[in-house]
Amino acid sequence: MLRFKVVEEAFDRKAIPVETPSERPEQYYAKYVFNDQKMFQYLPKKTYDALVGAIANKQPISREVADSVAEGMKRWAIENGARHYTHWFHPLTDGTAEKHDAFIEHDGKGGVLEAFSGKLLVQQEPDASSFPNGGIRNTFEARGYSAWDISSPAFIIGETLCIPTVFISYTGESLDYKTPLLRALNSVDRAATSVAQLFDPEVKHVHSYLGWEQEYFLVDEALYSARPDLVMTGRTLMGHESAKNQQLEDHYFGAIPSRVEAFMLDLEIECHKLGIPAKTRHNEVAPNQFELAPIFEETNLANDHNLLLMSVMNEVARRHNFRVLLHEKPFAGVNGSGKHNNWSLGTDKGVLLFAPGKTLRDNLQFITFVVNVMAAVHRHNALLKASIMSATNAHRLGANEAPPAIISIFTGSQLASVLDLLEKSSKEQLADLSSKEAVSVGVAQIPELLIDNTDRNRTSPFAFTGNRFEFRAVGSSANCASAMIALNAVVADQLAIFHRIVSERTAAGETLEEVLLDELRKLIVESKAIHFDGNGYSDEWKAEAARRGLDCETSAPKIFDAYLSKQSEEMFARTGVFTRVELEARNEVKWEMYTKKVQIEARVLGDLAINHIIPVATRYQSILVDNVVKLKSLFSGSKGDEIVAHDLDTIERISRHMCVIKAETYKMIDARKAANAIASEREKAIAYHDTVLPCLETIRYHIDKLELMVDNEMWPLPKYRELLFIR
Ligand code: ADP
Ligand code: MG
Repeated sequence: MLRFKVVEEAFDRKAIPVETPSERPEQYYAKYVFNDQKMFQYLPKKTYDALVGAIANKQPISREVADSVAEGMKRWAIENGARHYTHWFHPLTDGTAEKHDAFIEHDGKGGVLEAFSGKLLVQQEPDASSFPNGGIRNTFEARGYSAWDISSPAFIIGETLCIPTVFISYTGESLDYKTPLLRALNSVDRAATSVAQLFDPEVKHVHSYLGWEQEYFLVDEALYSARPDLVMTGRTLMGHESAKNQQLEDHYFGAIPSRVEAFMLDLEIECHKLGIPAKTRHNEVAPNQFELAPIFEETNLANDHNLLLMSVMNEVARRHNFRVLLHEKPFAGVNGSGKHNNWSLGTDKGVLLFAPGKTLRDNLQFITFVVNVMAAVHRHNALLKASIMSATNAHRLGANEAPPAIISIFTGSQLASVLDLLEKSSKEQLADLSSKEAVSVGVAQIPELLIDNTDRNRTSPFAFTGNRFEFRAVGSSANCASAMIALNAVVADQLAIFHRIVSERTAAGETLEEVLLDELRKLIVESKAIHFDGNGYSDEWKAEAARRGLDCETSAPKIFDAYLSKQSEEMFARTGVFTRVELEARNEVKWEMYTKKVQIEARVLGDLAINHIIPVATRYQSILVDNVVKLKSLFSGSKGDEIVAHDLDTIERISRHMCVIKAETYKMIDARKAANAIASEREKAIAYHDTVLPCLETIRYHIDKLELMVDNEMWPLPKYRELLFIR
């Protein structure tokens, strides 16, 4: 039987030894990245200066410079074994896209030479008509083009030179994640710089930083292949909880199994060669669940690195006979996977703006930025939730181990008491707080207070953690850009508004400190509803959040509506991140993706139910029926009745479960047909959510019951206890 064969294969497997480089990481780190050091080495001095200058000042490069860069980049790439190049971009699907071209060109003598021009480096026109675009390219123009993002270095994977690019329609609408991310980062740079200049006029730029923590599951590939649901949807659509799962809490930070450790080492070496600063690895809470976290980087680069990591992970896992599950909820009953986005802002002078400092002024700056983030998150909590929502993340949010589908901010008690102090102070007291004499109390106390701020609250979707915020609601399979676009944009908008008000008041003669404290106090009062330090998993919080007016919508397709609200549209217009056309197009894609994911799951589960489960349950049931008939012929009368009673009960229960499974499967097919006939993508997605998704749950429930009743020898699919414990 296939199930036992694959279980045996999986359980017999040994760790695959990793060929570790003879060099130390500092020698091979970024070996395959065309970073500053390689630029210096491979580009003429003039070109190098022009390129570095353009990157620093966020300016385009001239055609002449591009040609020279292309020549140097090609030479480096070929020396490192590259034969192809590709524009590497982030379409609105999961993951990345690439189309490879060989460097070869005709040499005019019947042979070829390897060439690469500035034109090819800087811009291409991939025939990308089958990438999701929400109607933009149907309406306007069939082609899109990709353009080099010079702020992200090119790299080599295998024998292909990858050039990070943005992907735009001919009419200028973004068709990817990178374009709006760059716009949001520019916007937050401008707004945060103007606020930071209130404290230090020398500040020229503010950078946004991202440190993601990637959670994932590993499954042996033999077991994976025997589960059509995993192969096709990335999650198990059925499977009874195993008797032991995570209740002993013995997996978290536990010893890493040797097969997994070999995989991790291999992965880290690959990461380091690609310049991904992978640093931390450990077991996560659920069995077979792990985490990898790098050193944080500037957000655009960090996001490229996360996308790269996800694809490298898949490759490396296969070398170790594993499959990586990046789905947010691959297994019911155990924790799902997220991708905490640790996020901060820092000046070009190296000051982290969410970290308290040494002086009164530093701390005023710290409080200013923190409170503005709180105000932005409060005002746009529905949008931020929409930015992390997806068909797959919907299974994790609101489940018991994950943040609820409500955005709130955890500050920890020390920051909370500072906010409280500011809120409750009268105008005179605030003036006092901002005076020199107050250095030993109030705002000036912040650094000591926060030094040992070890408060941790795992139930919060958005937590302040000492010198950064941690956006924890992001899904493990997501492109972090979605969350980072929304977060950086809303904060940029809030900071710009704040700066305008403060400037107006100081221009009218008030002192900066007074104005700041007064405006911050207003913001603290206004955005109080977003601050919640309690248990985010509790039902009381859901009721309380609704009372506070926070967005409590739980249906993913309706959560996406937040992108199209007047408030979001205006904010995105002010920050220059999205136009109305882009917002509408993107939402079409979101709804379409939602529908397709649920549709695929419904098809897979329908097939499994009817072709795999029902036949096996019927076979087992008929064995029982046979047995009853035979027993009855052996034992007559009431004795016989007594002896077969238990089997009869099982036979009946199997029938009941099978009846529901069949009925629900047919109901699900009808629901799908009805939904498919709806023209509006939004309404269709809502129909899938409201009418198809519930059938999946019901069918699963009854299949899982059958799993416990049917002879273990007959059960066709690997069970949770087999999938979840790597030997
Ligand atoms: P945790 O205790 O939440 O697991 P870690 O200290 O391991 O946190 O850090 C998690 C991630 O946060 C890492 O990727 C780290 O680089 C990142 N990080 C740390 N400081 C910052 C910061 N100021 N801005 C952005 N990311 C940061
Ligand atoms: Mg963390």
